[in-house]
Amino acid sequence: MLLIECPWCGQCEQSEFHYGGEAHLTRATPESDNTELTGFLFLRSNVRGDTAERWFHAAGCRRWFNARRNTVDDRFICTYKPGQNAPQETTDA
Ligand SMILES: [Zn+2]
Repeated sequence: MLLIECPWCGQCEQSEFHYGGEAHLTRATPESDNTELTGFLFLRSNVRGDTAERWFHAAGCRRWFNARRNTVDDRFICTYKPGQNAPQETTDA
């Protein structure tokens, strides 16, 4: 069972959450040209490794948050509230 840390509720089962795509995208504006709009709608970085994502706690507080996750081993590095910068990973040596 995979547990995900909601910034408001604490650790909960993965089945309570929905994936919301890549985090920290620059939104298209009404002034955006077709290239910028296409990039916002369809192009994603598709990183292999450490990436920032949006998640929704659907069966809990029903709030969105961001997470840093390693896509290779499906390990959540950290979660944080929207509007915050991603905490940097610390190494305890
Ligand atoms: Zn929650």
